Amino acid sequence: YAKQRGKNRVERYQARYDELLRRRGTLANELRHAIDRDQLRLVFQPVVALPSMRPVGAEALLRWHHPTLGAVRPDEFIPVAEEAGLINRIGSWVLAQACEQLADWLAKGHDVWVSVNLSPKELHAADYAGQVADVLAEHAVPAQRLVLEVTEHAVATDMEELIGRLTELRATGVRVALDDFGAGYSSLGQLRTLPVDILKIDHALVAEPESRTGTAAPLVDVVVRLGHRLGLEVLAEGIGTPAQRAAVEEAGCRLGQGSLFGWGVPAEHLEAQLDSLRTGSPRPMPVPRNDP
Ligand code: C2E
Ligand code: MG
Ligand code: MG
Ligand code: MG
Repeated sequence: YAKQRGKNRVERYQARYDELLRRRGTLANELRHAIDRDQLRLVFQPVVALPSMRPVGAEALLRWHHPTLGAVRPDEFIPVAEEAGLINRIGSWVLAQACEQLADWLAKGHDVWVSVNLSPKELHAADYAGQVADVLAEHAVPAQRLVLEVTEHAVATDMEELIGRLTELRATGVRVALDDFGAGYSSLGQLRTLPVDILKIDHALVAEPESRTGTAAPLVDVVVRLGHRLGLEVLAEGIGTPAQRAAVEEAGCRLGQGSLFGWGVPAEHLEAQLDSLRTGSPRPMPVPRNDP
């Protein structure tokens, strides 16, 4: 019986694995046409200053809507794009779209910056910094208005190479953010040697439950102080409740992002919010709603 059970388990595992491979194959094939078929969109999630909660920037987040597969999350399709050799083309599209939107907002007098997520493969493409400089010039966007976010996965690769790439990028005038800090591999030592401008604290740390000592978010406290000591701007991600906002503010963090302030929305929605703030009519923050 034990032997039979084991065999069934192996078969079930094999079936699930086959299904996963099939799904990935389908996604890779469909993703090849996603740009040409106009299935990709950017949404923009506000970044707010704390404690004022005034939007000061936005993170561009990629959305893929396929006619039959429906909405596919970036956490699923970005790794597929990387593996299928499609990420550089998709990344260029994202960068161009984000810069076009940023240029539009700046032309309308909105004092904001926009951040874009980078895959390690893009960062390591030949003359990536040159590409970034070209896109900025094409849209006449001042470099310091663009933030490029690198994840801890990039940090897991060759450190010297990474430092070289980030240094080239920053030489164009753009700012670099280290995304998802505290979620995975990057160490405190690496943080000290990496040429970055902004430290984004991962939502897992922000959502950390109250500790035994009764102090809210002790890790956030430590990371915010560390970031400031290293001369970095610190941004807390995934703020979902007023209590989390209070804890982050108490830690001295001056930038925040999360469902409490709004999910990623189409550019025109965020623009309407920026417009209403400018006319001075105080309006309540939009009610948090599901991410489109
Ligand atoms: P990320 O860069 O860390 O982006 C933040 C993710 O957290 C987004 O998920 C966002 O919708 C979600 N989020 C925002 N506020 C909250 C909150 O209060 N609570 C919780 N639980 N989550 C929140 P999304 O859009 O699904 O993106 C997932 C990841 O996909 C991103 O993580 C980023 O690593 C990657 N990604 C997204 N767009 C792009 C892109 O254009 N290029 C690349 N290379 N990667 C991208
Ligand atoms: Mg990000
Ligand atoms: Mg993040
Ligand atoms: Mg993430």
